[in-house]
Amino acid sequence: MALKHQAPRGTRDLLPAEIGRWQWAEARARDVLERYGYGEIRTPLFEDYELFARTSGEASEVVQKEMYRFTDLGERELALRPEGTASVCRAYLQHGLAQQGRIHRLWYMGPMFRYGRPQKGRYRQFWQVGAEIIGTAAPGADVEMIALFVDLFDAWGFKDLTVAINSLGTPETRARYAERLRAWLAPARERLSADSRQRLESNPLRVLDTKDPDELRLLHGEGGLGPMPRLLEVLDDESRAHFEAVRAGLVALGIAHELDHGLVRGLDYYTRTAFEVHDRALGAQSALGGGGRYDGLIEALGGPATPGVGFSIGLDRVLLMMEERGFAPEPTAAGVFIVAMEGTRLVAPMLARALRQVYTVDYDLEARAVNAQMKAADKGGARAVMLLGEEEWQRGEVVLKDLRTGVQQTVSLEGIVEALDRLLLGEPQGTEIP
Ligand code: AMP
Repeated sequence: MALKHQAPRGTRDLLPAEIGRWQWAEARARDVLERYGYGEIRTPLFEDYELFARTSGEASEVVQKEMYRFTDLGERELALRPEGTASVCRAYLQHGLAQQGRIHRLWYMGPMFRYGRPQKGRYRQFWQVGAEIIGTAAPGADVEMIALFVDLFDAWGFKDLTVAINSLGTPETRARYAERLRAWLAPARERLSADSRQRLESNPLRVLDTKDPDELRLLHGEGGLGPMPRLLEVLDDESRAHFEAVRAGLVALGIAHELDHGLVRGLDYYTRTAFEVHDRALGAQSALGGGGRYDGLIEALGGPATPGVGFSIGLDRVLLMMEERGFAPEPTAAGVFIVAMEGTRLVAPMLARALRQVYTVDYDLEARAVNAQMKAADKGGARAVMLLGEEEWQRGEVVLKDLRTGVQQTVSLEGIVEALDRLLLGEPQGTEIP
């Protein structure tokens, strides 16, 4: 029978069996971000449509084709956020953060929404963790961003990633480059897809985002057009010096990186440094994360000229890769299962509630037979069971059984905490600790 309701196309339920990995990855990320001294920011899941249209660029793929745009009952034009940076910058301006300090280091984590064609690693609701440094144009900020970016992947167990970097220069650089690219591609116009031909008119840099194998061959200089022009060839002096300082900073930190002349990033507000990491094992949707400088963004929102640099990482893809590579988080601490008898039924919930202040505790909600309770303890992965025998309970005692060794001991109520500590923290049983 077909179910009447299913999660909308491109969205997923994350069930308890897999949530452990997510929580682990999120916790590792939080640790790293806090140690770097970044402050968490949480912004609404939807914003004025205009905010994204303005910052991402009306002509961008995200705005034109992927926006979850809607009108609310008050006739407001809104959109589910497709990314985090625009909201962070909006909040930065709205709350006058500039008056509270020159440089702000911020991070966020949460779901984003894009109406793309769902496939492996691409969803309509997906999770990002991201960070921003707002308020300085110093190349050192770009270097710190990339170091943080790499250290997040490191904390998740990815040790061998190479960061691809490029410089997009200033808007003038990009306009100059767009002309060069247009002229270079012109002889091959008829061989381009309809999409790319349209991009060639509106924004030739976007042609570099293509996934079409024939077009990729062209871009790699294998289509008779000769080598593709490079952004770095048209960089202004300041952007060039900035880029060199960033690269020197990365070298000093020993961060593996390589130049990627085709890296232009999908959103319009990027300036100067752009970076990404890919993992080919993900197939077509190989980008794990990316970022860059966006010195024009806050001004575009009506604020004073304020430089910024940031990145975002797709958590869904990180989790996919963790699974594929066999990275497993440490299992959560196993707990104790309370097994009650007929005369101690009411004791189990009371004892469980008290012990749950410290330990992971379970018991049988249905008051089934002892055998069924023992099976449930086993199935639930409990480390130990606490048997509430009627006579023992009358004497103020319980029986603790270590499910790994099968060893049983009778413990007085006052001794429960000490015994559980020893059992659940895994210290050896029955041996004197000198
Ligand atoms: P972007 O803002 O497009 O650079 O996205 C940053 C990261 O978010 C990408 O590198 C991906 O890992 C992830 N991402 C972007 N779009 C999606 C999507 N539709 N589904 C899953 N992850 C995504």
